[in-house]
Amino acid sequence: MHSLLIKISRFKPSIIDPPAFSTYELTPAPDWTVLDALEQIRIHQEPSLMYRRACHHASCGTCACTINGVERLACKTKLADLGTQTITLEPLHCFQRIGDLVTVRSTLFQFMQPDWSCLQPDEKRDDHDLLLSGRGQSITRFENCIECGCCVSACPVVRKNSHFIGPAVLSAINQEMKKNPSTENDLLSIAASPDGETLCQRAVACSRVCPTGVYPARHIKALRDQRKRTGNTP
Ligand code: SF4
Repeated sequence: MHSLLIKISRFKPSIIDPPAFSTYELTPAPDWTVLDALEQIRIHQEPSLMYRRACHHASCGTCACTINGVERLACKTKLADLGTQTITLEPLHCFQRIGDLVTVRSTLFQFMQPDWSCLQPDEKRDDHDLLLSGRGQSITRFENCIECGCCVSACPVVRKNSHFIGPAVLSAINQEMKKNPSTENDLLSIAASPDGETLCQRAVACSRVCPTGVYPARHIKALRDQRKRTGNTP
């Protein structure tokens, strides 16, 4: 491959503040992903570069960021597939940014109840995000959602209104209802709250970016339909 320019939004509180772009040049191998590029830049050019990664195979959601303006997983996005000579990397929107591409994703869980069956207790109790969130209880994983936060970042409603409970949680509510029909009334009440499903403007941005095919917009529609059927409206 020819050389590429990787333009990264940098942020370090009180050091690179306000955020500013830095551009790095590299010559990637044909099969490199965005995460490979980040690793190479950190090792050879910018040791202070902050980003997150864990599984390297699209099953943990940790490396989600905004790539050429679209929410994606850095570990499964091939540089060659992007088709641009300059690749712009920014953190996800709508989450607290703590440095460069690193954000705090715990707000994904803030509207969820710990007893929902789609959540499992996490064996690891010192999760940094959760400590920052003050939740005190570590939780993880619901269905095939990898909690990457891409849908929340892409949602135009969340960008304008941080109170909207968002596509990931609404998807979890719908899946929880299917598994535990006895909880339907309570869950529909959450979905019907002023910060719930009614705020969705049907942009479908959530489904477009979800890397695991959760299709949050479908779950939101199912919730809306179920609310109409049962008369559970605000
Ligand atoms: Fe990520 Fe999809 Fe889960 Fe949203 S619903 S957090 S995009 S895996």
